[in-house]
Amino acid sequence: MKNFYVTTPIYYVNGDPHIGTLYTALAADIIARYKKLNGKKVFFLTGTDEHAEKVEEAAKKSGVKTEKYVDLMSKRFKEAFKSMNVSYDRFIRTTDNDHVKTVLEFYKKVYNKGDIYKGFYEGWYCVSCETFWTEKELKDCKCPDCGKSVKMLKEETYFFKQSKYQKEIIKHIRDNPDFIKPKARKNEILSFLKQPLRDLSITRTTFKFGIPVPGDEKHVLYVWFDALINYLTAAGYPGKKYTNLWPANFQLMGKEIIRFHCITWPAMLLSAGVELPETIFAHGWWTVEGKKMSKSVGNVVHPAEFCRKHKVPVDTMRYFLFRQMPFGSDGDFSEAQFIERVNNELASELGNLVSRSIVLIDKYSNSEVPAGIADVKLKNKYAQMLKNYHSEMNKLDYYNALNTVFKFVHLVNKYISDKEPWKLSDGGELHNVLFTLAQCINAVSCLIYPFMPETSEEIDTQLGKGKGYNKNFDNIKRNVKIKKGKILFPRISR
Ligand SMILES: [Zn+2]
Repeated sequence: MKNFYVTTPIYYVNGDPHIGTLYTALAADIIARYKKLNGKKVFFLTGTDEHAEKVEEAAKKSGVKTEKYVDLMSKRFKEAFKSMNVSYDRFIRTTDNDHVKTVLEFYKKVYNKGDIYKGFYEGWYCVSCETFWTEKELKDCKCPDCGKSVKMLKEETYFFKQSKYQKEIIKHIRDNPDFIKPKARKNEILSFLKQPLRDLSITRTTFKFGIPVPGDEKHVLYVWFDALINYLTAAGYPGKKYTNLWPANFQLMGKEIIRFHCITWPAMLLSAGVELPETIFAHGWWTVEGKKMSKSVGNVVHPAEFCRKHKVPVDTMRYFLFRQMPFGSDGDFSEAQFIERVNNELASELGNLVSRSIVLIDKYSNSEVPAGIADVKLKNKYAQMLKNYHSEMNKLDYYNALNTVFKFVHLVNKYISDKEPWKLSDGGELHNVLFTLAQCINAVSCLIYPFMPETSEEIDTQLGKGKGYNKNFDNIKRNVKIKKGKILFPRISR
């Protein structure tokens, strides 16, 4: 059976990872954890893109050899991912041996198909975006995407005939409504495809740090043609077993790179006779306190550092990023709103529910989950909510999935206030309430696990559960010894 395969883009190593980078990795981590929890075999791929002129330049600037520089930087990415509990299965680097091999094999296939030819490229080149622009496309003589200076380049280059696949790509997008998501991005691509496509220059002679073109080694393969293939390398292409993973279920990325993923990438795959991925999902951008995030403004947010500063677990950030804006839209990162959500939603609702439940069981049932009958109304509500939750998770609608879970959390808190278990005498009804609460926080623990894995594990520990999760409502058996533990979410004082 084919495994579930999710990818992030591979990241340029010319700077430190921040929320912009980690956001995609976290989104991939959430769906990977969700699928694993629900019994799927999952492969989650992320990594770093190291062959590039701007990487070579960044290395020069910091005064170390390019090879050493990319080692250092990719390590920093790994550490940043670890600090946020990103549970990737492979961290690929474009300098990995198997990747270089796969790229060469893939190049050969496309070349033999007659889709690569030699010519000259002349145009305005932006090093930062790795993109050539026509005179008309420039904005005030600068790169229209990043605003940096461009330089005039004329060089011998190999082209990939992506124009040949234009019609087929349009047809594929139209026939497969889930191919590009969200819909706005799909429309953007379709509208771009109304113009005739230019062929893509795929080699350079201006820098050395890249994969040499077979038979013409003064050329090295240019960024995109090399980088995109990483998704196939990790799947084991062209080995026979690559279809265990390929086609990818979700390829996640920021919206700035969808043209390459929705046009160039499919064209390359069509040329090589490889199936196209199921869904390319582009998310929006974060501003910080209403401003564009940039090094020069000094407002770049590093998630783990931010959590340390506020003395809260990293789960708070994992929660906030997907609760603050729908995955796919643009949003604003605001410290005040972060604090508000931590205090009002995580501490007051979720944290409070867990600690109240545990304290009640501790006090009124001798630290043991009593035998009881679960509340029917709440049980039915849960079943209904679970259905919505699964449908939302499978669409990567994290925003509404969290909404659904927190509505339930709110309901259970209300259930406690309504029942006032501290007023109930020993016996039947009291035991039913305590039993119900144990089931509810167990259920919540399972549902929040993809977003907040450490919190989920802490709830399980307090519930006296061993390793392994079960999302059934009546999973917690009677006589299980609960264990009072630490406060899940400390409040942040302003
Ligand atoms: Zn640019």
